[in-house]
Amino acid sequence: GKKQTLGFIGLGQMGFAMASNLFASTVSTHKFVIHDQNAGSLERFVGTAGKNGVSTSSLSIAATPRDVAEQADVVFTMLPAGPHVRGVYEEVVKGLRKDVLCVDCSTIDVATAREVAAWVGEKGARMVDAPVSGGTGAATAGTLTFMVGAASERDVEAARPFLEKMGKNIYHCGLNGTGQAAKICNNMMLGICMVGASETFNLGRRLGLAPSLLNQILNTSSGRSWSTDTYNPVPHLNPNVPASKDYNGGFGVTLMAKDMGLAVTAATATHTPVPLGAAAEQIYKVVAATHGLEGKDFSVVYRWMGGEKEV
Ligand code: NAD
Repeated sequence: GKKQTLGFIGLGQMGFAMASNLFASTVSTHKFVIHDQNAGSLERFVGTAGKNGVSTSSLSIAATPRDVAEQADVVFTMLPAGPHVRGVYEEVVKGLRKDVLCVDCSTIDVATAREVAAWVGEKGARMVDAPVSGGTGAATAGTLTFMVGAASERDVEAARPFLEKMGKNIYHCGLNGTGQAAKICNNMMLGICMVGASETFNLGRRLGLAPSLLNQILNTSSGRSWSTDTYNPVPHLNPNVPASKDYNGGFGVTLMAKDMGLAVTAATATHTPVPLGAAAEQIYKVVAATHGLEGKDFSVVYRWMGGEKEV
């Protein structure tokens, strides 16, 4: 029969890598249409997709989100935050046909995720929220974790074959918005742990402990976390992490401040106490507002605390 078309909107740090994997693994079975408000990332995608002799004859660029929706059977979005998702889907719904599946992989608030899913539902189309954990490395490697909120098991199963091309763990969390809920909880934990690791290493250093020795000890003791053993905020304890590259690349401190804000807002709405989440949110907001740190990875909280200053 006619080839199905996959659409991808938002080719930033994450979307670019995810769409690259999806395109490469479906190039013989599907058509692919991409859109981003930044023309440069579209050109870069077309240039990269055609490397290694891969044919790009099934790949096209759409001028608007609506144009993507009019062509696609499945629409993926990977956008910065709730307002962008709202704006893009206001256009997408104008072009949606019945039964088209929309998969939003952005990290946004639960309320927006549910509202946008309702707009899509009114068109007779379907929507799942499928935010990711893993960062740009996992996006490139195709090993992301997806947390999926969907109205039905059928919608999850429709998304699954494509999510499997971009990730290795896929969790169905419940109804629309619950994928976002899981993501927000994970990132609140991550945000708290990174602050904890940063102040811990700074204290250890000021007490005369070499960071590399303290790290060995923590990682074989009960203080271990992903922020100590995989993504350590102290420069040069882990190779290739942002902390070892002047805090460049990775997960922007502004995005972490946004995610902590989502957690605190959700906590407020449900009368849930999150004293450490709230404190960490404020810390990332201050770091994001600090001259020279705003474009850095969130682990730069270690530098902000004075971790590189001479004792
Ligand atoms: P990014 O800012 O690099 O990419 C966003 C892309 O969306 C950009 O290319 C931008 O041009 C495009 N865009 C924005 N508004 C648009 C619009 N109205 N129409 C068309 N295109 C538009 O962000 P990212 O780092 O790729 O993150 C995307 C999402 O994934 C965020 O919600 C983030 O919280 C989440 N996330 C990021 C990471 C990470 O490590 N970077 C990890 C997990 C989850």
